[in-house]
Amino acid sequence: MMIKKFSCVQGCSDCCIYREYYPSIEYGKIGVLLLPEEKTAIKKLAKKMSVQVKIIPRLAVGKEFPEKVIAYQMMGKNDDGDLCPFLDVESGERSPHGGFNCRIYPERPLACRAYPVIDAGSTATVATLDGHCQFCKKFSTTRAENSCLQQEVEALVRIKANVTAGKSKVWRYATATGRAGGDAMLPEGWVAES
Ligand code: SF4
Ligand code: SF4
Repeated sequence: MMIKKFSCVQGCSDCCIYREYYPSIEYGKIGVLLLPEEKTAIKKLAKKMSVQVKIIPRLAVGKEFPEKVIAYQMMGKNDDGDLCPFLDVESGERSPHGGFNCRIYPERPLACRAYPVIDAGSTATVATLDGHCQFCKKFSTTRAENSCLQQEVEALVRIKANVTAGKSKVWRYATATGRAGGDAMLPEGWVAES
């Protein structure tokens, strides 16, 4: 199989704008994944730049209740959960590939550096490429060359090892963000996954 070299599609900023309902609509839309140490750094940056951020838990482990939060998420700033608060959609400046600029690009979270590499959601496969990424759609691929890929895959292995360590359950936080359809409200709070 031929492997295509990864590069962003001209003018695209989709992964900084659109958020998904994950793992299903009842959980609401997710934000940008933050490791616990990144949460503190992102809060500091936001304060320094006077950017409003909403950071809520994403994953926790614990037997009877979520005892330890192992990942957080930075929510989109729009009511529907989209649009990263650090994406510069106002100044008119553009990134080298013609998308909007990330105001914290050199210090962006690991999940942003790794994207479109994402957790494959199974223990057999550590990581895959997100089919929502415009590059993956354009080339109908889930594989790509990326010089940083190894580092990111290793980081995902670390996160996954945390999640699967011990006999704890994994708890996922439902964000109550987005539209449930009709007037129904999406729920908010922890849900035990395993
Ligand atoms: S969705 Fe894919 S192609 Fe578009 S900006 Fe994000 S990584 Fe690049
Ligand atoms: S932090 Fe930067 S790279 Fe990450 S989603 Fe926000 S704007 Fe995009």
